[in-house]
Parts: sequence; C-alpha cells; structure tokens
Amino acid sequence: MKVERIALSGFRNYDQECVEFSGATNVIKGENGQGKTNLLEAVYMLTCGRSFRTRLDRELVGFGFSNAEILADTESHGREQTIKIVMTPGQRKQITVNAVKKSASELSGGLNSVLFCPDDLDLVKEGASVRRRLMDTAIGQLRPNYAKLAAEYSRLYDQKSAILRDWREKPSLLETLDDFSARMCAVSARLIRYRAAFVKRLAAAAGPIHREFSGGADELELQYLTVSTVRDPFSPEREIFYDVCEHQEAHRRAEIESGQCLTGAHKDDIAISINGRSARTFGSQGQKRTAALSIKLAEREIFLQETGEYPVLLLDDVLSELDAKRQDYVLNRIGAGQTLITCCEDDGIAKRTGARVLTISGGRLI
Ligand code: ATP
Ligand code: MG
Repeated sequence: MKVERIALSGFRNYDQECVEFSGATNVIKGENGQGKTNLLEAVYMLTCGRSFRTRLDRELVGFGFSNAEILADTESHGREQTIKIVMTPGQRKQITVNAVKKSASELSGGLNSVLFCPDDLDLVKEGASVRRRLMDTAIGQLRPNYAKLAAEYSRLYDQKSAILRDWREKPSLLETLDDFSARMCAVSARLIRYRAAFVKRLAAAAGPIHREFSGGADELELQYLTVSTVRDPFSPEREIFYDVCEHQEAHRRAEIESGQCLTGAHKDDIAISINGRSARTFGSQGQKRTAALSIKLAEREIFLQETGEYPVLLLDDVLSELDAKRQDYVLNRIGAGQTLITCCEDDGIAKRTGARVLTISGGRLI
C-alpha cells in the first residue's frame, strides 16, 4: 500500500506542489510552520476523506483560494488508483476514485493509514476520548459500515444533547427524547460489538510487542469498557441492545435533570494495565509511553492481518519526542511498508533507514 505521488493546489499553505514518495521510508524535513504536517494531513485524507486536525473543510482551503484540491496516485492490492478530493467552502467535498464519485466512507477498503502524532504518546495518560478516537479511526478504515454508524451516532448524540439542553425553554422537545434515546441504544449496540472485537485483536497484537519492547519486564493488557449493564460485548446485537436500553431507562430521569447524555457508547474506553495494574494510575511516564507505542504499532499489525498489506504509516513529530532506545525500537520495527516521517532535524534517521529525504519550505518542496 502506498502513495506514489500527491499534488496539492490551494491546500493549506501549498499553492501548487507535487511530491513523489518512495515506497519505503520518507523523511519530510523542514523548519517549524513550513508545511510538513499539512502534507501528512493531505495523505491522511486519502484514506478516510477527513482531516485529523479539523472537522471544517474550509480551514483546509489555502488563504486567498476559492477551493483546495488533492490529487494522488496510490497503489493498494496491486491496483493503481487516482484519488481526487476537492474542497470548496459552503459545498460538500467532492471525492472521486479513478474518476468515479465516492463518499468519504467509501474510501475505506482502498488505501489505509495509521497516524502517529505526539498526542498519541499520551494515549495512556489522557482522557477516554483519545482512546475512542483510536478505535474509531482504525475500525472506520477497516469496516466501511462502522464509519457510517459512528457518523450516525454522533448526529444522534448532537440532537439528543440539544433536546436535553433546551427542553426547559421548549418543553415540547421532550416528546421526541425517547425516540432519540432508542435510536442511540440501537446504534450503540452495533458500535459496541465492533469495538469489543477490535480491542480484543489490539490486545493480542500489542502484548507481544510490548513484551519485546520492555525486555520482557512488562505485561500489557487492554480491556474494552462500555455501558456498565452490558454483560457481554460479544453477545448478539439484540442482547446488547436490551442491556444498553436497561441502562438508558435507569438514567432517563437523571439525563433530563442534568441536561446531559449519560448513557451510550460515547463514554466507552479502553482500560490499559501493566502487570495487572492500571497504567494510567500506577505506570511511570516511561511505561506509559512504551505502552502507547506498543498499541500504535499493534494497530499497524492489525491492518496487515486484515488487508494483507501494511498501511501507510504517518509519524508526525513523534521520533523527536522519544529517547534513543525507543527511537531505535520504532525504526527497527517499521521494516516493510511505506512510512512518512516528519521532523525538524533529520538526526541521522535517513541514514539509519535509507530513507528518501524531502525538504519542505514555505509550502514548497526544495
Ligand atoms: P511544525 O514543525 O511546527 O509542526 P509544520 O511544518 O508541520 O511545522 P504545518 O502544520 O504543516 O507546519 O503548517 C504550516 C503552515 O501552514 C503554518 O504556518 C500555518 O499558518 C499554515 N496554514 C495552515 N492552514 C492554512 C491555510 N488554510 N491556508 C494557508 N496556510 C495555512
Ligand atoms: Mg508539524
């Protein structure tokens, strides 16, 4: 799986530029604010039609441009694909693959990527939303239906939140509350099954990586956490639905009184433990980082198992955040597959990996 070349026009700080990547490791080098992350962002968009930095397409359009365009030649499973994404403020973005119109969720199944940025190093330390995002972005790429379900859930959540927030001014809003709650329970049940299966696989892949990484000292375990009344997240959807509804009914009054959505898959999390104890509570800074690295590298392995090819690995500014031992571990593990690494200083990364070096300055390749 790889991106062969990408042409950007009016995208972020790229007026007009075309970049060719090597199929192995690429080091994207440049000073701060030159467009390194913007380039990764454009590549990421080819895999899911969305940015990892903003939900608003208009922020992607270059200052002074009326629209932004990404045009890329990619290869996955022996198939060459030309992907084009055009973003025009006030309009829906246009996506085509080999000149055939597609929706963002239809991009999954083609090119995949795993993004790794400094925030991911705080995967263990941060609140649950970071870990939910990991589940959502990974499963969304692997299962086309998941991305649609997650988008539907987020719409229902926004609508139900608005009802709970505004019903005191407009009591008639409460008439539709139960309908929204039931629909959220139904979608939750489906999301829960996908997430439980994914976390199980992630745990199986991350365990051995972490053991190797920590020199056999630490045993990493991951456990999927969801609505407390769900007895078994692997049971049939209908059973999970009933369990989620039970929680919903028990919290109906509290939701109305507090004005907040208190039940559903939007509160899910992954419990991460090292040697049987919560890594978040008891882990050292170094142990938390190692665990985060193991989990991200495991994510890449799952894509390999699932699709038979490594996804494009996007390392945005992470290497500079790691000590020499961890840097080496990551670079040695990358092995096969295409990787794009951004950094301010090369620090011998290119030499160690035989990477192609691309220097970016002011939205241009030099
Ligand atoms: P760092 O090393 O600090 O991470 P970087 O090379 O990754 O830097 P980018 O995040 O890619 O930098 O951003 C480069 C520049 O793009 C910033 O200076 C920012 O002002 C500019 N930029 C962001 N959005 C737009 C836009 N819509 N139009 C034009 N320029 C933009
Ligand atoms: Mg950057």
